[in-house]
Amino acid sequence: MSRDLSVIVIATKNEGKAREFAHALAPLGLAVRTLSGDDRVPAIVEDGETFADNARKKARTAGEALGVPVLADDSGLETEALGGEPGVFSARYAGEGAGDAANNAKLLRELAERAADVPQPSGLPEGVRALSRARFVCALALYDPETGAFAEADGMVDGWIIDRPLGSGGFGYDPLFWVPAFGRTMAQLTTEEKQSISHRGRALAKLADLLRKTR
Ligand code: IMP
Repeated sequence: MSRDLSVIVIATKNEGKAREFAHALAPLGLAVRTLSGDDRVPAIVEDGETFADNARKKARTAGEALGVPVLADDSGLETEALGGEPGVFSARYAGEGAGDAANNAKLLRELAERAADVPQPSGLPEGVRALSRARFVCALALYDPETGAFAEADGMVDGWIIDRPLGSGGFGYDPLFWVPAFGRTMAQLTTEEKQSISHRGRALAKLADLLRKTR
């Protein structure tokens, strides 16, 4: 990927993700632009079996439609107690178009049925129970329509799903995701703290390294 970029198009309309991308790419002198309000990109069906499949599909579809390099991520939550669910279905766990509140409520319901004998991490607040080990996963793909080349990176972070939401930052499953290293949920971290340990932060750091070497 040798083209000079100063604004990078992010294949998302999720403002929470866009803030995290902007924060991670600013040190590289890159500003970000999302697909919000841009109707040139056709609806993208995220039907891949892996996060990486979906990230490549989103980046290539948007890159071909716009004729500029596009960075896409696909990310989600995997829980041990549910055999890896919701995984690639994280965004639509409670149904197509379901919002964060409905997805979180479904996750708590499903885990409550299976949460016997879960080992408890130390440092949980009084009265809070962990329902499962869990992991956030992120796959990034940057596609350049001029060369047809991809630059890819991935990242993950391990934690626990707890039995009630705590905190109001972040988005998605953040209020339910307990991060042992901080003794708080993702939704109780600052953007900097989340970025320093999150799946997306780690994947972005790897991609930024790759871009530094090739730009
Ligand atoms: P995507 O937009 O298809 O990648 O869907 C990702 C979904 O996974 C989101 O809608 C969230 O439910 C969940 N997710 C991904 N990253 C995060 C995160 O950093 N915090 C909380 N939830 C996340």
